[in-house]
Amino acid sequence: MEEIIKQISKVKREKLGTEIPILVFRALRHYTDIYATDLLGENAAHILFINAGKSLGKALGRELYDTDLSKYLENIVKFIEEEKIGLLKITHFDDEKLVVQLDECITCAGMDNIGKRICFFEVGLVAGFVENYLGKKVIAQETKCNANGEETCEVTVNLK
Ligand SMILES: [Zn+2]
Repeated sequence: MEEIIKQISKVKREKLGTEIPILVFRALRHYTDIYATDLLGENAAHILFINAGKSLGKALGRELYDTDLSKYLENIVKFIEEEKIGLLKITHFDDEKLVVQLDECITCAGMDNIGKRICFFEVGLVAGFVENYLGKKVIAQETKCNANGEETCEVTVNLK
């Protein structure tokens, strides 16, 4: 297991356990977004969260890896649900692209329509899982988002 994952996985909270309210995650996520944009410019937060998600996706991908692709995908779907990141569904998969839907997204499910897609961390995460499997860089983007009034999150990964 990657050192950073090993370290952050160590939790000693006898009374409180390992889970936190979603508000805490979202507050951290959204305020980081605001301050990164303020301090570093328009796309800084997006780049930061995509790269953070990608690093995590690659590290986790090594843990969840299986030479059998369908088993690898199954492991990822299970992990995403167990960690309560969301409910991942593969809606399209061929040589050119992979499309996944993330229902009940940790970042945005239930939010009002704010007219933009915001789940860069989740985009990075999916891209990281794919990059780990393919051993090459891929381009991924969010093609639907609850925060954009689209009722789910969807990530499209260009595999070419
Ligand atoms: Zn979203």
